[in-house]
Amino acid sequence: MLDLLFLGIALPSFAYLAYRAGDVALRQLRSYQAIPFASGAFAAETGDTYDDHAFAALVGVALGDALGMPRESLPVWLTQLRFGAKPTLRRGILRVLRRRGTISDDTQLTIAVAKAIRDDGSFDAETFERELADWWRIRIGPGRATCASVERLMNGDSAPGDRNSQGNGAAMRVVPLAIAYVDDLEAMLDAVRNSSRPTHADAEAIAGAEVAGRATRLLLRGEPLEVVSLLPRASSENIERWEKLLSAAKELAESGDDGLDELGTTGWVFHTIPSVLYLFWRWPNDFEQGLSALFRAGGDVDTVAALYGALVGASGGMDAFGDLPWQEVQGAGVLQREAGRLAALT
Ligand SMILES: [Mg+2]
Repeated sequence: MLDLLFLGIALPSFAYLAYRAGDVALRQLRSYQAIPFASGAFAAETGDTYDDHAFAALVGVALGDALGMPRESLPVWLTQLRFGAKPTLRRGILRVLRRRGTISDDTQLTIAVAKAIRDDGSFDAETFERELADWWRIRIGPGRATCASVERLMNGDSAPGDRNSQGNGAAMRVVPLAIAYVDDLEAMLDAVRNSSRPTHADAEAIAGAEVAGRATRLLLRGEPLEVVSLLPRASSENIERWEKLLSAAKELAESGDDGLDELGTTGWVFHTIPSVLYLFWRWPNDFEQGLSALFRAGGDVDTVAALYGALVGASGGMDAFGDLPWQEVQGAGVLQREAGRLAALT
């Protein structure tokens, strides 16, 4: 009787787990092919150029993503035990599966948005939808709303994305738009909305993307990050709530208090965005210090780290990353090419 029970329950469960693990492994391999690790062809172009800051903003996404991903959504005690307190490139919890420097959806979708910006400077929504469909085969650690919307898109339904998700999926991929539209705020906000809609149609998910885009753009312009110039414009029905949360983030950073527990580090856009800004306001020039604080808080570590990395890079250029091994991050070569192309559009 027990034997039958074992055969009936355990075997299908094992088979299912094996199938899922195989599926993830296959996607991971395809992701390495589509977005290769850097081949070391980086020109030594430091200095205070727009190219340098644009590349740093994009590579900041990948660096934060790669440093944070192994810790995403895991208990903090476990990640501190397994990976240590400091940011270093590590493989995943399952060592066989992931090489160190592996990136996830945050960087993958950032590249997808970059590719949808045409050489004439326009954002092409159709290209972006095609990129989303291509991404499906290589998706690593994707969010729920993005998955559901891309599945609908692939079934020929190009209605706007999830109307109820206030996740950070749209915000995580806006950095290329800040680079390409650094001279034109309205064009950037338009492109942010158009790039959000296929997966995130909720007003606050788009508002969060607007704030992330505005922050990156201001820093690329060398302008200060003031709450009033960060607020979402058209989309949000909660401007006061955004203003309150961003002001709280700034005050916590200026007072030197631990702010992340209070602000929250989940994938909810009202958590993610204030925490990203808090980290930048508190540690604008010390990415490692900020990441260590983030790792102590846990949560949606890779996305918060990715957007924080974009702000650090946009503001400080490549020098801001010091000795962190950005050359060893998956996609660094692709990001450098895209950064150069987008910077040339301005
Ligand atoms: Mg991710």
